[in-house]
Amino acid sequence: MSVQVVAAKMAEVELKDVPTGKDLPVGSPMTPTSEDKSLAKNDSFAAGSSAAASLTVESSAKAGDSSPGLLTPNAAKLPQASAMKRTDPQQNGGEAFVNRDGTVAEAPRMKKIQFAEQKQEFNKRPSKIGRRSLSRSISQSSTDSYSSAASYTDSSDDETSPRDKQQKNSKGNGDFCIKNIKQADFGRREIEIAEQEMPALMALRKRAQGEKPLAGAKVVGCTHITAQTAVLMETLSALGAQCRWAACNIYSTQNEVAAALAEGGFSVFAWKGESEDDFWWCIDRCVNVEGWQPNMILDDGGDLTHWIYKKYPNMFKKIKGIVEESVTGVHRLYQLSKAGKLCVPAMNVNDSVTKQKFDNLYCCRESILDGLKRTTDVMFGGKQVVVCGYGEVGKGCCAALKAMGSIVYVTEIDPICALQACMDGFRLVKLNEVIRQVDIVITCTGNKNVVMREHLDRMKNGCIVCNMGHSNTEIDVASLRTPELTWERVRSQVDHVIWPDGKRIVLLAEGRLLNLSCSTVPTFVLSITATTQALALIELYNAPEGRYKQDVYLLPKKMDEYVASLHLPTFDAHLTELSDEQAKYLGLNKNGPFKPNYYRY
Ligand code: NAD
Repeated sequence: MSVQVVAAKMAEVELKDVPTGKDLPVGSPMTPTSEDKSLAKNDSFAAGSSAAASLTVESSAKAGDSSPGLLTPNAAKLPQASAMKRTDPQQNGGEAFVNRDGTVAEAPRMKKIQFAEQKQEFNKRPSKIGRRSLSRSISQSSTDSYSSAASYTDSSDDETSPRDKQQKNSKGNGDFCIKNIKQADFGRREIEIAEQEMPALMALRKRAQGEKPLAGAKVVGCTHITAQTAVLMETLSALGAQCRWAACNIYSTQNEVAAALAEGGFSVFAWKGESEDDFWWCIDRCVNVEGWQPNMILDDGGDLTHWIYKKYPNMFKKIKGIVEESVTGVHRLYQLSKAGKLCVPAMNVNDSVTKQKFDNLYCCRESILDGLKRTTDVMFGGKQVVVCGYGEVGKGCCAALKAMGSIVYVTEIDPICALQACMDGFRLVKLNEVIRQVDIVITCTGNKNVVMREHLDRMKNGCIVCNMGHSNTEIDVASLRTPELTWERVRSQVDHVIWPDGKRIVLLAEGRLLNLSCSTVPTFVLSITATTQALALIELYNAPEGRYKQDVYLLPKKMDEYVASLHLPTFDAHLTELSDEQAKYLGLNKNGPFKPNYYRY
């Protein structure tokens, strides 16, 4: 079934609270302007051929329409997702890729990631030591916690390994492995709370009542297992997919949510505090099952994809595509593609515009305050803060702190971002100029050695030091581990480092990413990601033969716009529609895409 047919059928679904297709403007095939085409050639994320149509979507967040966008038969055709052409990954976060033959291909400026050895035999009961020392041989993403809500159910309350338990849900189904099925009711409440902040997925579900664009899809997933993921999984199921799921992170599973999913009939293999052996065992249980073979992969970090490549390469004969969320996983796919080893199309949802904006700017604008408050209870009004780096993350941090009444200084190396900081009303300084007087130092450059021992030595008593950048390289924490300095752990993730004269600085999360370590990610941010993932799955699953090759693609811009439009009704936002005359004047299709690929939002 082609995507257009799917879209057309979905649009036929009568919904009480949404307008019918006839109320919506009629689209026409989207044709890029000649300017778009020529510029796209030079664009590192150049658009693919305009001829190929994709999921037909239409934004309906128009004047007076408070309903989400519809998938309509009349909507404009989309350009095919753009093949990822970049040669230097934008966010070189430090990865390496293990080739099929087991050799590790190390990318420039990348940290080495090791994978589990090819062991088919799993240990039955990992020792406690085994559990603690697990993180070295699994990928970094599996130990970074990026969960929007900490699990309320501690794994320490029951030491029995879930692998040693025989559990069944109320319908007698035991095809899952989780901490405790009895927590299902509690987990269900968590899922219901998350649903309220995930309007786009709920809208997609309504559209799926009649048509099932994922009918026949067998999705194997490896993501954080949280209430937000549960909303995604239940949406995929409503769209017709069967799902088997493992956790991409050994710490982030919400046990009660996993229980609710298992009670609802999902084959979930995950619990908080898995050992390394458990981690791979759970992934294996998802794919190594009699009578069921996945035909779609939804991955976060690339571990699941890697496992299938290593253990079950034949499975790729049936797999129609991979949807990957993380920087790490996307980079691995890119490496595979470059080596000519990617054997199915893959969609890079990490770099979609909407997701990037939410992850970097809007998420950090909120979580910087949350992370600082939870750890220090600091009052922001009147405090002097220096933010190093005025990129997306820095802009978010500065905006939030300024709004709280802080006096904000910015350091930058790039004159464009520096000028932006000035225009936004921040004092641009060198770190040395303000280091003695500031109360809070925040790094968000993605660089290394931004705050050095000489800076730390000069800070005033009580200065709070933290990092919002990807890795813990921005603050030279190692330089503080010297005999003359005393470290005092005052709270979880909060250390006082004390100088011989009694001066102390407050170091948060030992210089690791503050918001990942000390706060939560708003559900609405995760809603953007989850919707993008769902649409990417629909697109890849329904794409006609030949539309996507064995390459890494970006989500078509029009679908990116659709993700945004599905979130607008939450705000009762009324989007202005282009008139025919205006559309002609701008050389745009009335239904989008509204910006060329090179546009910077
Ligand atoms: P960006 O490239 O837009 O911004 C970084 C800025 O830092 C740039 O403007 C750059 O010129 C500046 N810079 C580099 N070296 C500097 C130095 N020595 N001193 C002062 N400024 C310097 O990147 P971004 O999207 O803002 O992300 C920044 C970091 O945050 C990255 O490591 C990214 O992976 C990470 N990140 C964190 C979160 C989070 O939730 N905390 C979310 C997204 C991204």
